[in-house]
Amino acid sequence: MKFAERMKLLAPSATFAVNTKALELKAKGIQVISLAVGEPDAPTPAHICEAAKKAIDENFSKYTPVNGIMEFRQAVCHYFKRQYDVDAKPENVIITTGGKQSLANTLMVLLNEGDDVLLPTPYWTSYPDLIRLAGGNPVLVKADSSRAFHIDVSDLEKAVTPRTKMLILNTPSNPTGAVYSQEEVDAMVQWCFERDIFVLADEIYDQLVFDGKPVSTAKWWQKFPEKIAVLNGLSKAFAMPGWRVGFTLAHEDLIKQCSKLQGHMTSHICSIAQKAGVAALDGSYDCVDEMRQSFIRRRDMAMEEISTWPGVICAKPAGAFYLFPDVSALYTPEIPDSTAMCTYLLEKAHVACVPGEAFGDPNCIRLSYAVADEILMDALRLMKEALYN
Ligand code: PMP
Ligand code: GLU
Repeated sequence: MKFAERMKLLAPSATFAVNTKALELKAKGIQVISLAVGEPDAPTPAHICEAAKKAIDENFSKYTPVNGIMEFRQAVCHYFKRQYDVDAKPENVIITTGGKQSLANTLMVLLNEGDDVLLPTPYWTSYPDLIRLAGGNPVLVKADSSRAFHIDVSDLEKAVTPRTKMLILNTPSNPTGAVYSQEEVDAMVQWCFERDIFVLADEIYDQLVFDGKPVSTAKWWQKFPEKIAVLNGLSKAFAMPGWRVGFTLAHEDLIKQCSKLQGHMTSHICSIAQKAGVAALDGSYDCVDEMRQSFIRRRDMAMEEISTWPGVICAKPAGAFYLFPDVSALYTPEIPDSTAMCTYLLEKAHVACVPGEAFGDPNCIRLSYAVADEILMDALRLMKEALYN
């Protein structure tokens, strides 16, 4: 068959690819521990499920507006008010099929063929593919573990080109768990605005910051709504990855363009999930606090264990639920890179991790610690045995 040229721009999503492989092995009866895909182990909180059940019972099953029901867009506005004291109107919000569609919408709507997008690296695996699909060109701005995976304005300065249209700013970061301070965010956002560079802020892990308050660009959006879009969603902090609920906060003209695109591609998200989303955002956030505490505990347990692994360097994550250790000191002619390392760990230790290559850093591998404490510790023990025996 002859496929469209654009398909050559895409590789399969690495996170899903590894997870699928782990699930296949499990189906064959092999006991595999998956630290591959980034999803909370906690169930969706009961009050959110109840709202969905009620919506089903009330037959809330017709088409809704493309950008989502008013009640949910208002709940998103309440979220920004409650968390960041930012005043947004429902016209500034579109509800999307996960954070992923927020990202895809915004890139498709803003990028022209050949536009450069500054991409702090390590990056989340879907960014470069989606940028390329929208006609853009990812310009990698590299940070490494020696700098706790932070970049700053001087790095942006070196990478900027006359065609730079956008910066993608993801804090807390997937895959590194690095969290920028408000001052760091402010400096980078200001730098962009002075150069007419649009900021796409991916804040899907904003509630999973371990020390201090969440950091957001929403205040900047309030001041310069046409220069920034803020992406978020319920997959992580509300333990709802399978519900597929994301949202974008942006200028109403950008929201209109996203709605136009989405209206042809996927229409709106599931009507039932929208009712669940209202319950999540307008309800109690105790469930989020509990989850955050569990991630802090697991991060500390895992860091303590990995600190005993000779040659492995692991920056301490300050948010999200990933570790991104540099394992390159353990590479050998038989295991020369992160893909080979993950294959080895899957076959020998039956633990699934994602190669750092998929995030732009082949020295590292990514582990999600959003699994039960005992499973996490078992996985790390098995990995250590495989690595050093
Ligand atoms: N951004 C980042 C940084 C992520 O890790 C994810 C993980 N899935 C997403 C966006 C998209 O999330 P979802 O589509 O599941 O809401
Ligand atoms: N964001 C998660 C991850 O990085 C979920 C998988 C995906 O959306 O690619 O594992």
